[in-house]
Amino acid sequence: MSPSVFYCTQQCLFCWRAQNGDLQISWDEMKLPAWDSPQEIAEGILRAQTKILGGYKGNPRTDPQKFREAFRPRHVAISLTGEPTLYEPLGELIQTLHAKDLTTFLVSNGSNPKKLVSLNEEPTQLYVSVCAPNDKVFKRLCRPQIDSAWESLNETLAALPSFSCPTVIRTTLVKGHNMEEVEGYAKLIEKAKPTYIEAKAYMHVGFSGLRLGFENMPQHREVYNFAVQLADKTGYKILDESTDSRVVLLSKKERPKKFN
Ligand code: SF4
Repeated sequence: MSPSVFYCTQQCLFCWRAQNGDLQISWDEMKLPAWDSPQEIAEGILRAQTKILGGYKGNPRTDPQKFREAFRPRHVAISLTGEPTLYEPLGELIQTLHAKDLTTFLVSNGSNPKKLVSLNEEPTQLYVSVCAPNDKVFKRLCRPQIDSAWESLNETLAALPSFSCPTVIRTTLVKGHNMEEVEGYAKLIEKAKPTYIEAKAYMHVGFSGLRLGFENMPQHREVYNFAVQLADKTGYKILDESTDSRVVLLSKKERPKKFN
């Protein structure tokens, strides 16, 4: 889910979100004109989850146990699209979801370090997207719409060790754009000391199709090769991979923490 679907401080080329100009309409992408309360969102996402399950019960291929479990979601990924720190009561939203016994995985582009460090409740797990090894690639690929975005991202990375929840550096790899200069990524990781690193392939879906081609999607083996280089330069180990999702997980832990 996302509390800020069409709003973000960046215009990444690989984003599946409709960006200013994609639909021949324009809006201020960095300011939510209005928003629902945390309570409304928390109740609304559970209602929406129930709604999307409609029709599955009668399908003979539906696993009955998975169907029952799907009615009682346990985890909320505050991710999807848009930058969640633009949603003003983000800390209260996290609190509201935790009060309903849900975990929260929060994904941010790191452009708003002050907001992240002042959340009145930490998420269960915090992800920060790092999709460039240096400022030059960052400006070209992530197209920040605010001044000093690279410095803000670095400020967020420097603050990550102060979080008590597990932290993740998440890198969307776009062939021909950001799969070189692994040393640069290693330096950023050294600063952030994340619990995990997730290297994953760009997927040619949504509005990113207007900006990039199929040839920009790396194969799983290319993502894996990138992860091997990263492991070599950071001391992190490859813990897991998913070929279908073209994603590789690295950590200094022996195994990932599980949330049931
Ligand atoms: S930071 Fe995320 S939501 Fe924002 S433009 Fe980039 S991919 Fe899209």
